[in-house]
Amino acid sequence: MLPEQTPLWQYAEQIIRDVLGAYGYSEIRLPIVEKTELFKRSIGEVTDIVEKEMYTFDDRNGDSLTLRPEGTAGCLRACLEHGLLHNQVHRLWYYGPMYRHERPQKGRYRQFFQLGVETYGMSGPDIDAELILIIDRLWKKLGIRDKVRLQLNSLGTITERMVYRESLVAYFQEHLDQLDEDSLRRLETNPLRILDTKNPAMKQVVANAPDLMDYLGDETRQHFKAITTILDDLGIGYEINSRLVRGLDYYSKTVFEWVTDELGSQGTVCAGGRYDGLIEQLGGKPNHAAGFAMGMERLLALMETLDNIQLARPVDVYMIRVGEKAEQEGLRFSETIRNEFPGLKLQVNCGGGSFKSQFKKADKSGAEFAIILGDDEVDRGQVSIKSLRNNEQEQQDMSQQQAIKFLQDYL
Ligand code: ATP
Ligand code: MG
Repeated sequence: MLPEQTPLWQYAEQIIRDVLGAYGYSEIRLPIVEKTELFKRSIGEVTDIVEKEMYTFDDRNGDSLTLRPEGTAGCLRACLEHGLLHNQVHRLWYYGPMYRHERPQKGRYRQFFQLGVETYGMSGPDIDAELILIIDRLWKKLGIRDKVRLQLNSLGTITERMVYRESLVAYFQEHLDQLDEDSLRRLETNPLRILDTKNPAMKQVVANAPDLMDYLGDETRQHFKAITTILDDLGIGYEINSRLVRGLDYYSKTVFEWVTDELGSQGTVCAGGRYDGLIEQLGGKPNHAAGFAMGMERLLALMETLDNIQLARPVDVYMIRVGEKAEQEGLRFSETIRNEFPGLKLQVNCGGGSFKSQFKKADKSGAEFAIILGDDEVDRGQVSIKSLRNNEQEQQDMSQQQAIKFLQDYL
């Protein structure tokens, strides 16, 4: 990620921090490696991630470690280890690189960044809806609200899913000839995952499969209804997609994805849901959890098409210094300026050079103004200021105090 790309990232990251702050979420910082076992137990043995995407290696003790392919497992591991799940509720977020050995293409990388948000200890539909509100607010602040849409589904409880699973298996058994190799294998191990297939040849057989919605019990239906009522009430649009199963094993009840049509087959920008079962699965007491993960590269790809983002300049003011006295006095003055204007980005020319070559560098820096000191100016107790963006504006001589006043007016 080269320096010309980072301002847009920083812009997005700042908005993300602010929005999460506005909902009272706290940051947690997690390690990049975890024991391989953790991911196998949480994500599930029969998932794309665990079957073929993890970067796994033995360390010097012979322990199997894995570069984290996602953050949910590590976050829960940390919270269990430090007793954060005992009679408490938490609203957490983390941000950083994840690793999956996939075929790199636009929107799909082997190292990619995710924003992850996890909540613990809350069972109601209100927290599920809060997560969706956060994401919706993020889209608005980031300026891409009209490029993404929300898809919503309920996966039911484990019991409800078991019953559904049986009907699903029975259905696919009758259509074995239409299943691809992956799906034939999943029929034995994790048949729901077949619904998540990206193989166009299987579209038809999946479309005619039994509908999970028909297998949900009253409690699950009420939970789901409560979410849609909140969303309706607050004017947040959604589509119900009963084929949405997500690539991970640990979900229950609510699942959602935010998708876009602008990134080809890498269309999911954000995905999440409720995963009540996972805490117990990882050795904790039964508890509640819901969260989501947002793919930053896909988000940034959507933002790159916007033309109304005002990114911060890397340099506001460039200081030109020619001569020994000017170098000394200029450096001193630059520190005074930084004391006066903590937010100002002032770059001081280093490494000497003629006025002409320093002006070139000043121009290239992107700065708005140059402050110019030659030994002459120093002798007269003056500095010069010149606009680098407006040729009509004459270079002006003034005292250091006046220069500070000038910058104050400009800011
Ligand atoms: P996909 O179906 O695109 O492979 P996934 O279901 O594997 O996505 P999740 O594990 O739910 O993805 O991760 C959440 C988000 O992280 C995705 O919606 C996507 O935006 C992003 N993401 C996942 N894998 C990658 C990757 N290899 N490169 C870039 N972003 C990714
Ligand atoms: Mg994937």
